[in-house]
Amino acid sequence: MILKAFEELKRFLEKPKKIVIVGHRNPDGDAIGSTLALKHYLGKKGHDCSVVVPNDYPDFLHWLPGSETTYRFDWQNSQSQRMINNSDIIFLLDFNALHRVGSDMQNTLEKYPNDFAMIDHHQQPDDVKYMYSDVTICSTCQMVYQFIEMNNDLDLIDTDIATCLYTGIMTDTGSFRFRSTTSDTHRIIAALIDKGAENDRIHNNVYDANSYNRLLLLGQALSNLQILPSYKTAFITLTDEEKNRFDFQKGDTEGVVNYALSLKGIIFAAIFIEDKEQKIIKISFRSKGNFSVNQFSRNHFSGGGHDNAAGGKSDESMEKTITNFTSLLSEYQSELELSYEE
Ligand code: 5GP
Ligand code: MN
Repeated sequence: MILKAFEELKRFLEKPKKIVIVGHRNPDGDAIGSTLALKHYLGKKGHDCSVVVPNDYPDFLHWLPGSETTYRFDWQNSQSQRMINNSDIIFLLDFNALHRVGSDMQNTLEKYPNDFAMIDHHQQPDDVKYMYSDVTICSTCQMVYQFIEMNNDLDLIDTDIATCLYTGIMTDTGSFRFRSTTSDTHRIIAALIDKGAENDRIHNNVYDANSYNRLLLLGQALSNLQILPSYKTAFITLTDEEKNRFDFQKGDTEGVVNYALSLKGIIFAAIFIEDKEQKIIKISFRSKGNFSVNQFSRNHFSGGGHDNAAGGKSDESMEKTITNFTSLLSEYQSELELSYEE
């Protein structure tokens, strides 16, 4: 755990400040939950706060309290730039390095003259002035809860803050099932329910909001699933044409990689999703046990994340990417064999 200049940050925030809170590109439940929760909390402390994210996020997160106030840097560019340039401090939430916001927003943030504060749980974080980084914590939302606790402000957590934090903890832990879920996580979740988070409504809003096309796309993804038993590996591909056939919407492929990981005996899973617009194959890696997909993705696919969940990309065609991926596996065969015991 790194806690850097926390007392200094506390003193800095004693007077009302203009604050911008930033989440990563393609924000997920933890990014939106944590940025909105921190906005609500710092707002209650008398600060003027805005959330700016690089681009839009899935519909199943748009119902979150305060979502209507977020700025998308890509299509609300001048307002977002103004917010950033007029702010006294920027909070970076749920990401560890400035490039994770995408090159346009990264350029703006690199010119920012004031200080950054980071609250994040990804490995190998960049160094900024104020830091709260802990790779052992399941979600940035849990860290925001603990940040509020460190400020002795748990009594300021209201229904909106509790709802945002519950959502991010839920999505980043696969509904409280991943290894990163601890007894502390459950205690915090219990406290958030006591503060007004309606757990059944949150689960419904996030997980039971499927369109018919999304289920058909899932069907396509599952029929593309390939298994490599000798490497305990399974992977899924989705081409742009397949995405278009089922009217792909942002968020539609979220969680699909977990079906590959749900196969008995599989401990390493990947999904390769073609993005013709960005001219890349976007990859999600997941693992069970000690096999670090963070390291695998850093080594071979310009990405990273956590030990058991990481992202990456490839600039090659789908075919070449898959050939490359499968040929890499032999290097890892013994590691994959030893990684997990049932
Ligand atoms: P996903 O596969 O859902 O896109 O990402 C899995 C996890 O890895 C998330 O926590 C995400 O924030 C993180 N992640 C995804 N891509 C990258 C990347 O390029 N670099 C780093 N450091 N983390 C990433
Ligand atoms: Mn997260």
